Amino acid sequence: MRPCSGRCHSARPFAWCAVAVLLVCNLVSAQSSKTQDQFELNDSHFHLTNYIQQGIDIHDFLKIMGTKVGRVALFGIPLQQEWSYQNSGDFAPTYYMQTDAPLYYYSFTDAYIAMAYRSLTREEQGRFDPMITGFNPADMYAADHIRRVLKTFPGVFSGIGEFTIHKEFVSSKIAGDVASLQNPALDRILDFAGEVGLLVIIHNDIDTPFSPNQSDVPSSEPGPQPVYLSQMQALIKRHPKTTIVWAHTGVGRIVRPIKAHALTLESMLSDPAFSNLYFDISWTEVAKYVVSSPEATQLTANLINRHPDRFLFGTDEVAPPDQQKYLRVYETYKPLFALLTPDASQKLRLGNYERLFDEARSKVRAWEKAQGVDSPEAKQ
Ligand SMILES: [Zn+2]
Repeated sequence: MRPCSGRCHSARPFAWCAVAVLLVCNLVSAQSSKTQDQFELNDSHFHLTNYIQQGIDIHDFLKIMGTKVGRVALFGIPLQQEWSYQNSGDFAPTYYMQTDAPLYYYSFTDAYIAMAYRSLTREEQGRFDPMITGFNPADMYAADHIRRVLKTFPGVFSGIGEFTIHKEFVSSKIAGDVASLQNPALDRILDFAGEVGLLVIIHNDIDTPFSPNQSDVPSSEPGPQPVYLSQMQALIKRHPKTTIVWAHTGVGRIVRPIKAHALTLESMLSDPAFSNLYFDISWTEVAKYVVSSPEATQLTANLINRHPDRFLFGTDEVAPPDQQKYLRVYETYKPLFALLTPDASQKLRLGNYERLFDEARSKVRAWEKAQGVDSPEAKQ
């Protein structure tokens, strides 16, 4: 909330002026807190820009958030789709599936996101948690990039991600070394995130496409081990001081939920070795599976009800044109919300976001302060 300035007309008697200021301040405060209470959700997973670094103006996006969405974890996309004339001629691709040309890491996305954030008033800034994404997770220097971004734009970032290790069709298209969960470069990144308090949002498909282990129908019979599960588990265990959000619960566009998906998640959430692990249920693809049948919805609801502190709602929308398109995932999830306890529903939509991002914000600000970098005043 913007602080009440306390300024008023000096022509009025002092006592009346003081009473008037108090009344106005209380009114502003009441309205503000009322608005806070009225928000239906926070969005832990949102892309302001797309694969060619185009998107919507952050001020327009604030209007789209309106009075429904309180806070948003804000990032671009770290990968730029190259427009190769040799490949697609005059056709300008805007998505990675539209050309055979490679993707490359576009580090300027971090400066772009930081400047968008800094163009907001302080009150508006409070509704965003910008994230650093413009690093190559296969590069031993990636952690140095993150450090440099924090020092260049102090007072801005709360975390890193969404960044990607294994993603169907994408990982193999990226120029340079292919990313790996076993690469020490990734360990350096997660070590540094833990040291600073940066929240980590990682996209990693749990399996490869078209594996027989996957199923659209939820099952309690585990299939063969999905390809990337054990590597991901080892990574999370190697970094117990780093808070990690596994995006989309490991599901991809073609990588369907594995057999006994809920059971696999449950076993990790019940294991103290994974107490630093959270899941987001963002993306239309994930929502599609969750509401595909009453059994699937009930199974997911049971899991969230048993572990209400460990799941975050997110949209995974990219530069949406209006609120209806922005909140289509939220609408799709309505049958799931209906099966949650009031406590689990509140935590999934609002509370877990606030707890995790508030913690990250204060830790990162403390780290920046200890480094001697001060954040400049926001635009008022
Ligand atoms: Zn993702």
